[in-house]
Amino acid sequence: MIRRTAASTIMVALLSGAATGPVEHSLAIRLTPQVSGGAVDGIVVQETFDVEALLAGATLVSLPMVSQSVPGVLDDPATLVASDPSGPLPLAMVEDPVDPSGIKQDRHWRTSRATGGRITVTYMARPRAITPETKPAALIDMRTEGQGVYGSTQMLLALPEGGWPRKVTIDWDLAAMAPGSRAVTSFGEGNSTTTLDADTLAYGYFMAGPWQKLPPTADRGFMVYYLTPPAFDLDAAAQDVAATYRYATRFFGTAPQPFRALMRTTQRFQGGGGGGRNSFIFGTVKGEGREPDEINALLTHEALHNWINAMKKGPQGAWFDEGATNYYTAILPYRIGRRSIAQVEAQIGEWTSNYYGNARRTMGEDAARAAFWTDADAQMLPYSRGPLYIALVDARLRAISGGRKRVDPLVRTMVHAIRDGTASEDMWLSLVSQALGERGRQDFADLKAGRMLDLPADLFGPCFRREAGPVRRYSPGFRIETGTDGRRTAGPVRPGSPAATAGLTRGDEILNWADLDGAARQPGAAVSLRIRQAGTLRDVHLEPWGPARDGFRWGASTPRPAVCNL
Ligand SMILES: [Zn+2]
Repeated sequence: MIRRTAASTIMVALLSGAATGPVEHSLAIRLTPQVSGGAVDGIVVQETFDVEALLAGATLVSLPMVSQSVPGVLDDPATLVASDPSGPLPLAMVEDPVDPSGIKQDRHWRTSRATGGRITVTYMARPRAITPETKPAALIDMRTEGQGVYGSTQMLLALPEGGWPRKVTIDWDLAAMAPGSRAVTSFGEGNSTTTLDADTLAYGYFMAGPWQKLPPTADRGFMVYYLTPPAFDLDAAAQDVAATYRYATRFFGTAPQPFRALMRTTQRFQGGGGGGRNSFIFGTVKGEGREPDEINALLTHEALHNWINAMKKGPQGAWFDEGATNYYTAILPYRIGRRSIAQVEAQIGEWTSNYYGNARRTMGEDAARAAFWTDADAQMLPYSRGPLYIALVDARLRAISGGRKRVDPLVRTMVHAIRDGTASEDMWLSLVSQALGERGRQDFADLKAGRMLDLPADLFGPCFRREAGPVRRYSPGFRIETGTDGRRTAGPVRPGSPAATAGLTRGDEILNWADLDGAARQPGAAVSLRIRQAGTLRDVHLEPWGPARDGFRWGASTPRPAVCNL
């Protein structure tokens, strides 16, 4: 399962990037990391930009206080100061109302007198202090790792209200950092100049320090940057994803662009990944091996979000951006010979168990979106029902065309509409209505309303056959975390989950954790976990698989037909 954290879902991606038309305004950003005791303890941010005449009380800049449960970068908001051609510019702070869900609260600085012309804003951004209490959240926080520092531009940069698009220059001063340090952002390696709108500038990442890159000499296509050498074969994964990335560029019919993935290494919590403009960030746990299939699928998924992303217009679930992304994460690498039928089968199996086995399988898309952050079952729907729905449209098209028509042109149309900002669910509805008539309308209505999808036997073409039967979903309700000392402990335990029922609590050491991995591969298996809880050894009985629910799975056909048409 490719579980994304918040960043790529909530944020609206403005993938169009560089804007057209005359550029009148600029924004010069100077970033100067400060080092103390060998580690970065802050980045001095200096921004110079021009504004039209502003009256007293107008908002000059804003910064998140919290975004997706991640705290902002200002230790002391009063240290943000500004000046204009008349000298120091007095500011007043205004905070958004507290968002109880922790998804978004901004702080705004308003000018206390009329101003205009060239403004300079300066502040000190501090990396987040990570403690054992730090919970997993979106990968947008500013953190240090070894001698380096990274984070998201949405948390780092206080952006002016108006004057967009701007010619944005990012200029690094790495003099205080370790020898060999370099900087990279979603907008380029080293210093960069790009014309951007505010949302695109905020939809990026940065990394400064003695990083390394894979492929080491690449300056185009898919590249991965990291500070800590991984304990798994990242090189092989980078080559795998780079091949799919090249193919996807042709498949979606877009101009080649560099694409930068940043890997962050933490002591606990992989944390999935988060998207950005021509980039993403993903997490890994220090010293932990990763299965090639898992890391390849994660990186492919995040790279495909370069094309398949959230629509800007209208209410919508994540069925398209997560659904089509998961669908092509399985299909595109297969088409270029980088996945076997067995590997595709495994991915389809994740979708079907997380859909049919899901307690929320009849929840509508809009309700699932509303519950995304609070309900782990609802959160899973776009990643499971979504790709099955895309496969359903594909199967309908194959059925009426003798296998010639595919869903690909419809998705391609949406991808280009997402890039020019015109995509909407209505557009998709009209595409499937034109292609499939009432059937296309009905399938989409089923998806939106949460009625069980009417998935045909040949959903995945001749190389897969449908089997009816009970389906269970693996959902223990907690994750195992690896401590700095190598001990495996239980992370947060979801209330009401099998782990909670078993009596597991956060921080319990799990001595036979490999047995849980084994149970995860055997639908319906229970496991006896030997744990150390509050200093006492005990065994708990865990049933990590959800109840059996009626459903289908698609297994590889034997013998396999010559042409799969996947
Ligand atoms: Zn995703």
